[in-house]
Amino acid sequence: MKGENSFSRRGFVKGTAAAAGGLLLGRSGRAETPKGAPMDIDALKKACKGVVAAQGDANFTELIHGNLWNRLIPSRAPQVLIRVKDEQDVIAAIHFARENKWKVVVRGGGHNWCQPTLRNSGLLIDLSELNKVISIDVGARKAVVQPVISNRDIQKVLNAKGLAYPSGHCPQVKLSGYLLGGGMAWNQGVWGSGTESIEAIELVTAEGKLITASKDEHAEYFWAARGSGSGFFGVVTRYHLKLHPLPRAIHGSTYYYSMDDAAAVGGWLGENAAKISPAVELSL
Ligand SMILES: Cc1cc2nc3c(=O)[nH]c(=O)nc-3n(C[C@H](O)[C@H](O)[C@H](O)COP(=O)(O)OP(=O)(O)OC[C@H]3O[C@@H](n4cnc5c(N)ncnc54)[C@H](O)[C@@H]3O)c2cc1C
Repeated sequence: MKGENSFSRRGFVKGTAAAAGGLLLGRSGRAETPKGAPMDIDALKKACKGVVAAQGDANFTELIHGNLWNRLIPSRAPQVLIRVKDEQDVIAAIHFARENKWKVVVRGGGHNWCQPTLRNSGLLIDLSELNKVISIDVGARKAVVQPVISNRDIQKVLNAKGLAYPSGHCPQVKLSGYLLGGGMAWNQGVWGSGTESIEAIELVTAEGKLITASKDEHAEYFWAARGSGSGFFGVVTRYHLKLHPLPRAIHGSTYYYSMDDAAAVGGWLGENAAKISPAVELSL
């Protein structure tokens, strides 16, 4: 396989360079290589708390395919995957990619239908272990969460406190890419889309810096993150969310009509959709 061959050659050259240069651990605890020597994969493994796997490693295929939701798995594969444990791992991964001039792709929940998180070559940063609620302030109706938390899990925690968030409709989908894509939400007519209830985003930039973006700081990142979807150029590690009071009920109904009536039903919906309460979500 072309990718494997090019990886082996490259890995050998980088391994030799790193062995000659030696690995230094900086004050931050992050592995650093001497100026001029790119970080190699062993150095990345030492620098990170999370799992790092390269093509040829026994667990590589399982790791790159493991959490792809629709199981339509393309033959594309990165050279290396890192399943990060925290922000410092993300920073180490970005530095590794920069030093080696590798492309980076980020995976959140693995629910995007087309699998944009599997690309040939480069580095895959897998965020699946960033899946926790960091804090909830009930009085201020705010929460800070890691990105790969599911709609089901976020609602479970919030609903118990009388709060809710405009999450997506399917319980197993994660906030990560859902919010970057705009977030078509439950009760959107009242609460707005998921992305409209984001107050700030913590992200690692392409330069490897951890920043917080909101309307008051790094506003350009904040603007871009809310709708860019797969095109976003940072790694989101936390979302700061504005919460809403839990509604007394959310009710769903499904009506079936004969295909022969499709035009009549569509016409009726077209005429009436704008007149109904924003609390009613209609789809045909
Ligand atoms: C069953 C199902 C139901 C759905 N329902 C809804 C719905 O009700 N409303 C709605 O709006 N959408 C819905 N979607 C679409 C869903 O929101 C998108 O597929 C979204 O991309 C899923 O997020 P993910 O983290 O799993 O994405 P992934 O597949 O993990 O990632 C896709 C891309 O998003 C980017 N990305 C993801 N996370 C990050 C991050 N933390 N930092 C930087 N980049 C990142 C990367 O570029 C990545 O390539 C649904 C999808 C499915 C499969």
